Amino acid sequence: MAIQEPSTAPKVPPEESTKRFVLNSILLSLIEPVRGEPTVYSLDRHPHDNASPIAKFLDSFALICSTKSGKDTVSAVCIEQGGPTGTILRLARNTSTSEELLLRFQAVLDDLTLIAKGGCSLDDKAWELMSKIVELDRFKIDSIIEIFQKKRDQELIQAAVQRLETGEFSNNGDFLEWAGHLPSLLSLSPGTETAELIKKMHWAAQARWVYSAHLQRIAFPESTTAPAWINNIYKLGRYHAALLAMIKLATTRADLFIPIRVELVEPPPQAKFSLNGESEALRNIIRKCTKAEVEDIESQLSVYWLKDADAHFRKACKARVLTVHAEMQLACFYDNNMELTPRFLFMGTSKKACFHCSTFLCRHERRWSFSATHSKLYPNWMPPLFSTGSVRQIHLKLIWDINQYLEKTIGRELETKLRIPRSKKVVFDSTAGPSLTTFVLGGEFTFIKPQPQTLTSEPKRITEEEDDSSS
Ligand SMILES: [Zn+2]
Repeated sequence: MAIQEPSTAPKVPPEESTKRFVLNSILLSLIEPVRGEPTVYSLDRHPHDNASPIAKFLDSFALICSTKSGKDTVSAVCIEQGGPTGTILRLARNTSTSEELLLRFQAVLDDLTLIAKGGCSLDDKAWELMSKIVELDRFKIDSIIEIFQKKRDQELIQAAVQRLETGEFSNNGDFLEWAGHLPSLLSLSPGTETAELIKKMHWAAQARWVYSAHLQRIAFPESTTAPAWINNIYKLGRYHAALLAMIKLATTRADLFIPIRVELVEPPPQAKFSLNGESEALRNIIRKCTKAEVEDIESQLSVYWLKDADAHFRKACKARVLTVHAEMQLACFYDNNMELTPRFLFMGTSKKACFHCSTFLCRHERRWSFSATHSKLYPNWMPPLFSTGSVRQIHLKLIWDINQYLEKTIGRELETKLRIPRSKKVVFDSTAGPSLTTFVLGGEFTFIKPQPQTLTSEPKRITEEEDDSSS
């Protein structure tokens, strides 16, 4: 598939284009950072939906390649099938990846190759693989379980456990048995042994799809928003789901794993951004995007932000470090290496795509797919303008188009939105990864290390009758 030459190439130099783009992004994020409704991650839908097993695998692999919390290790991955040297997973991370880490990612794939070849105990290999994943993602997992050490969350967990004793669940032995492990969350800490964490992830995998309704009744009975500690149980469960998704593909599509290797896309350097002496930045945007009086809009912004508008905007522009997101690195890699373009035009991601990435990918000629977007606009998003030749022109045009859209949006919102009181909207942007639904329900193998007693077999799907009876 060839991408088309743009019909009209922008005349603005790339540096100027980047500057305008970033300034517009900063202003829009200060007005409202969430630019649309978050979409549901495909793997967070019900297990009976038709999400592709390869997409689930890619999301799972991206999840485990994101080894730390925060933005630096956010990952995206594509699959190149049918090459002369086997399957290649093309991996990009927001910032660079060490050779040692790359070898550890490859070790996970090597285990999957062994599983694909058969002849080994699946339960033993699953346990071994999960141990590798936990050790690989220790930093991130520790940041997830830290919440269970916080006093406020400990009190909330204890309150939820007390609600178990009301008798409401007396005829639901399965849930009582599962919820009986809730107090053990309090003892999780960054020093918790790998084996204990694996058992906890297996337990946590049942939270969303088997017991979420029950959990709501004991943990947040008067609200529709789950408290953070519940979301962190879901996050723990995702690692179990990721393991199952990867093993599932290795056992059903062995051809993809014999052999398979991971190759890195080298990220472009981050870039510092500042106003660099520009004294009228905010006013210039207002002039460009609206027909209203600059002073009127500026004073309305001051009321909207409850701060001097110009000072607030200047402060937001200070000392920013821009990053080319992992999804953009992959899109640009394939634009520059068209012969490697995957047959399956899907990017697995370790978290939902941001507003700019999803807009770029949706407008891109290749029409890339990805699981979901959280629709949040990140002002540190760097336009991917590092390519050369005709590819550079194509990217310039794409960024120019998106920038036109940003300016139209700014114009509309400056003239209308500032009259409406600002609302606070919470969007979780760190909870993509594979769904708990992946293969937890109705899976084809158990995940039981021979010794541990607390690892149960496959959780069963809760029936509608059970749901009704306990409501
Ligand atoms: Zn992004």
